[in-house]
Amino acid sequence: VVSILVVEDDPEIRRALVSGLTERGHAVASVGSGLVVLESVVDAPPDVLLLDLGLPDIDGLSLLAMIRAVSEVSVIVVTARDDDADIVRALDAGADDYVVKPFGVDHLAARIRAVLRRGRTSDTSGPLIVGELVVDPRTRVAHLEGHPLDLSRKEFDLLLALAARPGEVVSKRDLLIEVWQQPYGGSDRSIDVHLSWLRRKLGETAAEPRYLRTVRGVGVRLVAPDEVDRDQ
Ligand code: CA
Repeated sequence: VVSILVVEDDPEIRRALVSGLTERGHAVASVGSGLVVLESVVDAPPDVLLLDLGLPDIDGLSLLAMIRAVSEVSVIVVTARDDDADIVRALDAGADDYVVKPFGVDHLAARIRAVLRRGRTSDTSGPLIVGELVVDPRTRVAHLEGHPLDLSRKEFDLLLALAARPGEVVSKRDLLIEVWQQPYGGSDRSIDVHLSWLRRKLGETAAEPRYLRTVRGVGVRLVAPDEVDRDQ
């Protein structure tokens, strides 16, 4: 269970976030002002802090700087303005990611997963292993059965996103957000094209898949060939 602390002064938005994230299985707490957060992140740090930048008692960016002085907690800032300068300041101040209001809870949930995954992969920075496939986020090289794969940047990112959660079906929408950074719409077509290139480099076809398994209408998962039968 992922614990999330929502910092949001608008009661309606706060309620919607708490119920939406709770419905998705997260453990959610919320506060309506900023200064109390400092104590929480030290005493009982959540996995993810969702921080509205427009708070009544303190400027969100100043609060973020204070949080960063005492905590490495993952922070996603929420801003009402789609303003590049603001977003850059927030990321410079130590935010892990941001969302711009208004946003859907599905979109936010995908961002949360991405932040947690990045935290995990950069913590360990060790290679991810799925069957005979080894994906190293540090060197950005993947090997299959001991042989290096010649992957483009996007192909590698796509493979890494899937290898980070082997066996799990990842929706194309999540892949668009994580690999293409296209939260709003974007084209499934680019994913299909890159998947087919990746598939070819892994020496398999859609008709005879080994590692890359498409689940029609849902998404795609990466799984070791000898584990497919076991969990189907
Ligand atoms: Ca606000």
